Amino acid sequence: MDRELKLPAAFLERMKGMLGAEFEEFIESYERKRTFGLRVNTAKISCEEFERIVPFEVQKIPWVENGYFYGEESRPARCPLYQAGLYYLQEPSAMTPASRIPVEPGEFVLDLCAAPGGKATALGAALLGKGLLVANDISTSRSRALLRNLELFGVSNSFVANETPGKLVKAFPEFFHKIVLDAPCSGEGMFRKEEALARDWTPEKSAELARVQRELIMQAVDMLRPGGLLLYSTCTFAPEEDEGTISYLLGQHPDMELVDMPGYKGFSQGVPSWGNGDERLKKCIRLFPHKMNGEGHFLALLKKPGDALDPSPAVQVRPDKNTRKWVEEFFQEIGLKSFQGETFDWNRMETRGDKVYYLPPAGGNFRGLTFLRNGLYLGDLKKNRFEPSQPFALALHKGDAEAVISLQVTDERLTRYLKGETLLIEPEEASHKKGWHLLCAEGYPIGFGKLVNQTLKNKYPAGWRV
Ligand code: SAM
Repeated sequence: MDRELKLPAAFLERMKGMLGAEFEEFIESYERKRTFGLRVNTAKISCEEFERIVPFEVQKIPWVENGYFYGEESRPARCPLYQAGLYYLQEPSAMTPASRIPVEPGEFVLDLCAAPGGKATALGAALLGKGLLVANDISTSRSRALLRNLELFGVSNSFVANETPGKLVKAFPEFFHKIVLDAPCSGEGMFRKEEALARDWTPEKSAELARVQRELIMQAVDMLRPGGLLLYSTCTFAPEEDEGTISYLLGQHPDMELVDMPGYKGFSQGVPSWGNGDERLKKCIRLFPHKMNGEGHFLALLKKPGDALDPSPAVQVRPDKNTRKWVEEFFQEIGLKSFQGETFDWNRMETRGDKVYYLPPAGGNFRGLTFLRNGLYLGDLKKNRFEPSQPFALALHKGDAEAVISLQVTDERLTRYLKGETLLIEPEEASHKKGWHLLCAEGYPIGFGKLVNQTLKNKYPAGWRV
């Protein structure tokens, strides 16, 4: 490492006791550089196609199907493909939890501690716009970042909440097929990535966090349907927060079962003696930085006994007649053939004031909950017309609309567009002569613009510019 990382003495002492002969190797891993990862948004692009068009070097992460390592110098957040929502930047070990809970399109999924969205974007991509993703965080500022990342990823069926888990339990008893609880933790596994975590660490922190984690995991179980799966994860090595929390849950809910997860040679098993001695804790997975190319993590997959209840009825709202007319006119102008490869469902379009939304296909009891977004913000009603939003552009898939200007990923006009500049477009580059167009990188939508005499007026909102 380029810098000296100071690890707390009490932490080292405890790790020495936990790891025994492996301790030296563990400590040596702090001399190595951390790795960097990105996770492909498979709702928008296949991994094969991504590998074909990505303009910097990537290498597959062996334990996550759609994960790739990249070099720090590549600066992937500056690539237009990032602004098209084709990948999420995420530490490679942190990709593991969402990759170990099987999510099927149409299910109801909860991410209880979701901000800034590392797991929620993966869950949203797996749902393919079908079913419902409730993504919650107790922090208001962090839930704003969560919403932004879900919008960038083009997730159209999420309910983004800023609630206490206690209130969610009342609204969603035994509601979800799948729940991810990526709990607040002491972050010991991230010391190499975020030095501040090591500086702020105290031996007492784990006990307090374990108390919070126990409460959260019990609340998560209350919201899980019979037959549903719960994925619990942390980024700490602290046994109290890991095997300790799972032991507590198994004690309170002896009917909950630990489930095996797809393995990898660098994974380690949970350690029964670090919890209550229950042999089943071996089904948990621990990630150690001296055993693989990533930071520290812990995960456990649990099943609630029984059979899942029937899904809730589909959402149906009656769209306002004028709104529908204006939105239809806009769809005609851009030649909208499909929405995320499917037929646009007018029964899901809702108008609130001058804002138009596309609701998730399935709803729950959202009454009384504090939320930032229900579904997708489609756009605004201006005087007798509809103006599309940036999240709408990002929710569109390659091939959904006809009026596109698609440039190569290396075309510097894309970077200029992302800064808010007006672009010169050759007639053969645009599919229509004038009017609204989707500007795309390699066919993947980035944002809207309006073509007038070979000039593309920039409609990329100020708050999104880079
Ligand atoms: N899952 C996120 C991701 O992958 O990007 C990271 C989540 S982070 C480990 C834990 C989150 O829990 C924080 O965003 C924090 O605001 C939130 N949090 C802390 N206490 C909470 C509580 N009691 N209920 C809900 N969220 C809470």
